[in-house]
Amino acid sequence: MKTPNGYEIIQLFEQFAPKHLAMEGDKIGLQIGTLNKPIHRVMITLDVLEHVVDEAIEHEIDLIIAHHPPIFRPLKHIVTDQPYGRMIEKCIKHNIAIYAAHTNLDIAKGGVNDWLAEALQLQNVDVLVPTYEEPLKKLVVYVPRTHADAVRKAIGDAGAGHIGNYSHCTFNSEGMGTFLPEEGANPFIGQQGKLETVEEVRIETIVPARLQRKVIQAMLQVHPYEEVAYDVYPLDNKGTTYGLGRIGTLSEEMTLQQFAQHVKTSLRVPTVRVVGELTNRVRKVAVIGGDGNKYIHQAKMSGADVYVTGDLYYHVAHDALMLGLNVVDPGHHVEKVMKEGVANVLKTMCAQQKFDIDIYVSQANTEPFTFI
Ligand SMILES: [Zn+2]
Repeated sequence: MKTPNGYEIIQLFEQFAPKHLAMEGDKIGLQIGTLNKPIHRVMITLDVLEHVVDEAIEHEIDLIIAHHPPIFRPLKHIVTDQPYGRMIEKCIKHNIAIYAAHTNLDIAKGGVNDWLAEALQLQNVDVLVPTYEEPLKKLVVYVPRTHADAVRKAIGDAGAGHIGNYSHCTFNSEGMGTFLPEEGANPFIGQQGKLETVEEVRIETIVPARLQRKVIQAMLQVHPYEEVAYDVYPLDNKGTTYGLGRIGTLSEEMTLQQFAQHVKTSLRVPTVRVVGELTNRVRKVAVIGGDGNKYIHQAKMSGADVYVTGDLYYHVAHDALMLGLNVVDPGHHVEKVMKEGVANVLKTMCAQQKFDIDIYVSQANTEPFTFI
């Protein structure tokens, strides 16, 4: 077991919620403090408010991972006898770093919107609003026949050749490779100054751009040649689609009233606001955590019978009525699912790395509303 530093923790976390997935202009990443220090205790929270920082101090937290960035608008001042400035002062004085994962965590596979879809027991879940299609590369490598299996396994294990539910997909053609080792070469086969002909296999596969380096490194490690011949081509076809919100179906149709009740129990909220006739029948559900006002048209176009999102505005509710789209608003605070969600992901990842670290889920309530 080893104590990781902040960079190691965040590097791990960003494999799950990469920064490049965030919406343009979102304020994500390290916001307060430093990652250049050992991390013993991490706290996961939805919001950073003063009483959340007090909780972190009490639990001797080194790093807070928050969903909502505490610094969102440009700061005009940090006045430490006012609540906001005092909160920042406390973090700095107690050496607590704050890292925000916002829309990148919403969009991530297995992130906030998937946790919400899962809590609502949606099936056949897909992305609601696509924001990013992963670029793909074609990797072609030439390898002597004796080592083809090892290379195929190494690149497949590193994530190349993933198509739908199939891994390790490659195409192989046999042919002759030629080379002439020059002075200074230390060839695996053949000798200096003599033209060699070797039976080789041309292995081709696809690689998501983000895994290109990892796959090539894995390939080079098992390839026997001193100088490996390989090509990487950009492709026009795209890989996995990432995006905001999810759409899926309920196991059975129900009335809007029953569904509203289902939302209350499954997202553990005391109340929901509903737009639409309570007797309407619903089965296809679109969900976006947080404020999804902007996306009601996408929800309608995607064929959803009902749209679950928070912070619904009065006029947007009118628009939904005119569109004939039912809406259930459980509030913005349902994003609290991210606390357990991130903690579970991080615990698993840290255990794999044998990191000696405590992951603590904030118990502080940051719901600003009281329901009476
Ligand atoms: Zn939010």
